[in-house]
Amino acid sequence: MHLTSVGDGRQYADSPSVHLTFDDGPHSFYTPHILDILSQHNVPATFCVIGRYAAEHPHITRRIVSDGHELANHTMNHPDLSKCEPTKVASEIAHANCAIKSACPEARLRHVRAPYGLWTEHVLSCAASAGLGALHWSVDPRDWSRPGADAIVSAVLSSIQPGAIVLLHDGCPPDERNWGHDQRLRDQTVCAVSQLIPALHSRGFAIRPIPHFH
Ligand SMILES: [Zn+2]
Repeated sequence: MHLTSVGDGRQYADSPSVHLTFDDGPHSFYTPHILDILSQHNVPATFCVIGRYAAEHPHITRRIVSDGHELANHTMNHPDLSKCEPTKVASEIAHANCAIKSACPEARLRHVRAPYGLWTEHVLSCAASAGLGALHWSVDPRDWSRPGADAIVSAVLSSIQPGAIVLLHDGCPPDERNWGHDQRLRDQTVCAVSQLIPALHSRGFAIRPIPHFH
């Protein structure tokens, strides 16, 4: 038998990798909760942050990096880039880069994730011009639709494969927020993550940073 995990976050080098990504934060309430859970299990993640939220929550943005996670660019305002004017695409990416770096000068940005995963040739070329690779996902449990924490966990476990990039959400885009009524916005995601990490470990997966060649 190939024992690849001891269940406490220490993995052997030969266990297959999976990657956790969190979009649409930082959120003042949910992001710290997610960070606490990741820290308890000693696993890394990538946070695809919205630039204007990074500017609003610089202390959380810095904590993401000081806790050992990676930040990625999820645009300044989360528009559908495929419907934006060409110059707007470049400025959404550039402004988010500036906002993230001014909140957290230590941030090393390698990736952009297009809102809604809507990529065009122009978006890809703007990303490349900004020195960023395109970061998509391979597993989407639709946690934002609040199907229940158990459903989120099972959706991930049923389609997880070595090298999988899992899409989760620690926040909500500006135009989808129901301001003042988002107390339970990502509660299911928080609960699901606390179950998902040990479940992935017990299935022999190691949760690792997104590799550099990606
Ligand atoms: Zn998003």
